[in-house]
Amino acid sequence: MENETVSKNFIERIIEEDLSTGKCDAVCTRFPPEPNGYLHIGHAKSILLNYGLAQKYGGKFNMRFDDTNPTKEKIEFVESIKKDIQWLGADWEDRLYFASNYFPQMYEAAVRLIQKGKAYVSDLSAEQIREYRGTLEEPGKKDPSSDRSIEENLALFEDMKNGKYEDGTKVLRAKIDMASPNMNMRDPVIYRVAHMTHHNTGDTWCIYPMYDFAHPIEDAIEGITHSICTLEFEDHRPLYDWVVRELEYEKPPKQIEFAKLYLKNVVTGKRYIKKLVEEGIVDGWDDPRLVSISGLRRRGFTPESIQMFVDMCGVSKANSIADYAALEYCIREDLKVKRPRVMAILDPVKLIIDNYPEDETEWLTVPNNQENEALGSREVPFSRELYIEREDFMEEPPKKYFRMFPGNEVRLMNAYFVKCVDFKKDADGKVTEIHCTYDPASKGGNSPDGRKVKGTIHWVAAKTAKKVTVRLYENIVDEDLGVYNEDGSLNLNPNSLTVLDECYVEPSLAQAQAFESFQFVRNGFFCVDYKDSKEGEPVFNRIVSLKSSFKLPKTE
Ligand code: ATP
Ligand code: MG
Repeated sequence: MENETVSKNFIERIIEEDLSTGKCDAVCTRFPPEPNGYLHIGHAKSILLNYGLAQKYGGKFNMRFDDTNPTKEKIEFVESIKKDIQWLGADWEDRLYFASNYFPQMYEAAVRLIQKGKAYVSDLSAEQIREYRGTLEEPGKKDPSSDRSIEENLALFEDMKNGKYEDGTKVLRAKIDMASPNMNMRDPVIYRVAHMTHHNTGDTWCIYPMYDFAHPIEDAIEGITHSICTLEFEDHRPLYDWVVRELEYEKPPKQIEFAKLYLKNVVTGKRYIKKLVEEGIVDGWDDPRLVSISGLRRRGFTPESIQMFVDMCGVSKANSIADYAALEYCIREDLKVKRPRVMAILDPVKLIIDNYPEDETEWLTVPNNQENEALGSREVPFSRELYIEREDFMEEPPKKYFRMFPGNEVRLMNAYFVKCVDFKKDADGKVTEIHCTYDPASKGGNSPDGRKVKGTIHWVAAKTAKKVTVRLYENIVDEDLGVYNEDGSLNLNPNSLTVLDECYVEPSLAQAQAFESFQFVRNGFFCVDYKDSKEGEPVFNRIVSLKSSFKLPKTE
């Protein structure tokens, strides 16, 4: 097989082993977010990994909200998470589940453990439980409640369920081993009393299961074969295995941990993003400076670019940190041949062609993308007055500056050769207009007589130009001074957003639709902002510049 040379990641090897030994017949994975915030690039890795494995092995991928903790969860987050996952292209078909719908089974599972003598109701307070748990050096102490009879435990647990106890006064603990070297195995709490309204189950329950107990049950109920989570759960795996073993599931799911995706100098923690949103430092969860999935989408990233990025990062057990530049590389690669290349002037100065007819507008045929003929061509207006980038003219150029300066001839991209003959400045010495003459024989930007020009600059015809707002972005935090301050707060970059409100684009761009993206030649890739654009008045966000400092890692 030709693809055999592509090396498999460690999870694929485990799955293939399980399929070949018959440990499982068909792969089933899931993505289990807590609906307590928006998803970010790290979650995208987990989603695409789980979905990709199900696809690769002809299995199933479930979407499950892990909504067992009623305090922080909100419907708003449920909706945003669904939208983000769909956008990424991970299809759960008809398998959208809520862990809270399994509360009855979880309750029964707890009762079964009590009946087996494997769980007991404890009277210890949270603080006492912590004290009794011991330390890494010292074993824990026996909980005085652990000797209760099965009957007594059953009655007490039922009373817990029936609302007889205040929050924090009783818990159900698994009876495992207070001397275990693994702290998670020292009689972990598996149910607590909490008189809270749940977004899905309302006031039906006043006891809620703990994550380590609930999660394996959720997986087992759904027939998950490989329950993939991040490395911090490695120490919880013995408890996961204990739960599925004691509950005697026929085909118990298996937990596999992989390393989280970290991005260097980029804020990913839900907690931090939430703070930025709540303090109004950013424009919502989808601010284009955030690496929330909705922020990336609004900025103009594509699902394909995110897939490419997570593939490039790979799957492993060892923590590593990816560069944001790698993500930028991926979006450039994806858009490079897919999207049209158009002309836009971000920092305009007027260029006047003295020998060009005053009222004429010529329509020049310009290819949309020289690397992709399938994108066809478009007509671009050309006339006597144009805008060019201010930085494309210099009164006194340094060596190797090949753009416009007095006496120099350059090519106006796809149009004509022009020669700078004069320029005007205002009282502050700022150039206000540049004058040039053109050579009608150089139409299309081709040399009429073999004479060469070294510089090519882009332009937009002034009278037909569409004036638009363009936004440029930098990292929301200051990379050089360090992302976090000593007190743990974020070191914000005051230049993370630059708004340019006098930019000129080709007239056809006035009709650009939300999320449509373009290459603005020489300036980068830009995407129409869905929130701030109006019909006929697009606002463009820069996705990424064209220059890259990123080098693809060698694969040999
Ligand atoms: P965070 O603390 O970063 O906001 P979380 O772990 O609290 O994330 P969950 O909703 O619990 O968010 O996560 C859902 C799934 O996404 C889990 O399986 C989790 O392991 C995975 N996940 C979260 N962050 C990352 C990451 N940085 N890289 C890969 N997977 C991640
Ligand atoms: Mg979590």
